[in-house]
Amino acid sequence: MTIHYLAKPADGTSVAEFDLTEAGSSPRLVDLIARAREVAAIAAAHAVIVDAEGRFPHEAIAAAKAAGLIGAMVPVELGGEGAAISTIAEVCYTLAGGCASTAMIYAMHQIKVACVVRHSALSPWHQDFLRRVARNQLLLASSTTEGQGGGDVRSSSAAVMHEQSRINLERAATVMSYGEQADAVVTTARRGPDAAASDQVLVVFEKADYTLDRTLEWETLGMRGTRSAGFAMKATGRDQQILPEPYADIHAQTMTPVAHILWGGAWAGVAASAVERARLYTRKSARGMEGQTPPSAVHFTRAAAALRQLRTLVATSLARYQAIEHDPAALAAMDFQTAITLLKVDASELAVAAVMSAMRACGLSGYRNDGDASLGRHLRDILSAPIMINNDRILANVAMSALLTDTPQSLHD
Ligand SMILES: Cc1cc2nc3c(=O)[nH]c(=O)nc-3n(C[C@H](O)[C@H](O)[C@H](O)COP(=O)(O)OP(=O)(O)OC[C@H]3O[C@@H](n4cnc5c(N)ncnc54)[C@H](O)[C@@H]3O)c2cc1C
Repeated sequence: MTIHYLAKPADGTSVAEFDLTEAGSSPRLVDLIARAREVAAIAAAHAVIVDAEGRFPHEAIAAAKAAGLIGAMVPVELGGEGAAISTIAEVCYTLAGGCASTAMIYAMHQIKVACVVRHSALSPWHQDFLRRVARNQLLLASSTTEGQGGGDVRSSSAAVMHEQSRINLERAATVMSYGEQADAVVTTARRGPDAAASDQVLVVFEKADYTLDRTLEWETLGMRGTRSAGFAMKATGRDQQILPEPYADIHAQTMTPVAHILWGGAWAGVAASAVERARLYTRKSARGMEGQTPPSAVHFTRAAAALRQLRTLVATSLARYQAIEHDPAALAAMDFQTAITLLKVDASELAVAAVMSAMRACGLSGYRNDGDASLGRHLRDILSAPIMINNDRILANVAMSALLTDTPQSLHD
């Protein structure tokens, strides 16, 4: 089976050479993409109603669980499929072609799985938890946004309180996607009552460990199926549920790179779906003009070009991350951290540009909500990308490291 990757390699190798089987991956992983396509078809069939009702995509997530997609990243020795981040990014891209909310839910879940897989090797509790994620296809939610802190992920207010081996956490989780539908929550918190806001840990709480009282609805322009409501969260558990490594390391080595790559994959999938609608519309218009290129084709060209850039950006970032995935020093290097952080800014802006150009290519037909070329949902969904951890905040945060980095003197630096 040939897998159409986010971007072809620059060295001219053919797509066929990227066949997962030939690349040495198990046929099960190739099959994972085929299963993702089936789930994407189910997601697509329900995308309009999920958006209109602003409800969780139950059908698509149930199908993803039934197809084993939820536990795919868990290592084989713990009962999962050991899927690489490149495969999971491809699944995000595929799902997003059907329903952006489904793809984003899948991406957010896998970001948390990646954090637990990578940073809990010495923790029997987490290894057992991962076995259950694979066996029972447990869906993990992520809680980083707290109170009025917005997207400042590297700062927590609520602290983990210890009572011998028991822990308690009470936190204002102001935005938590599918909090009510998840089987577990993976949350940041201050290490203890005396710790600084940036001295954080990551903790896993299973559904029986917490209560969520809704404090804020999720009545939004787009990504309506993610059900990212606000909650007062009260959790209790055992101290073994805290990941053994500091969140600062988890954030730099896994959380940021995996989030930005998987979000980029999902946004590229939304953009690809919009570009495909614009392509079909433009071709139909050309047929109506006896083969002449319609004037709006210029917008289609722009949409396709933005999508190409986006796919290349995500694919090259992915390759760069995979090359140093197990090298903490290389991951911590300022140049890598700057690049992987800015991936989010650039990918989100390219995705918006691609969908906006697709909408302009389709004109009124794209603006309408009732035709094959309708792009309103794509546009509303993709407009979440620049604000999901606000690009302004990210640009302000990387300004200092950007200033400290020398300007390249050669094309090949
Ligand atoms: C679809 C979706 C799903 C989400 N799911 C989750 C989830 O599951 N769990 C979770 O914890 N969170 C989730 N979030 C929230 C997300 O992680 C961020 O917390 C949220 O997007 C921050 O939004 P904000 O605009 O309120 O906050 P802020 O980041 O505080 O931004 C507010 C405003 O301040 C400006 N601003 C902030 N800092 C700076 C700066 N340094 N320089 C210049 N301007 C600045 C921004 O431009 C913006 O206009 C989700 C968000 C979205 C859109």
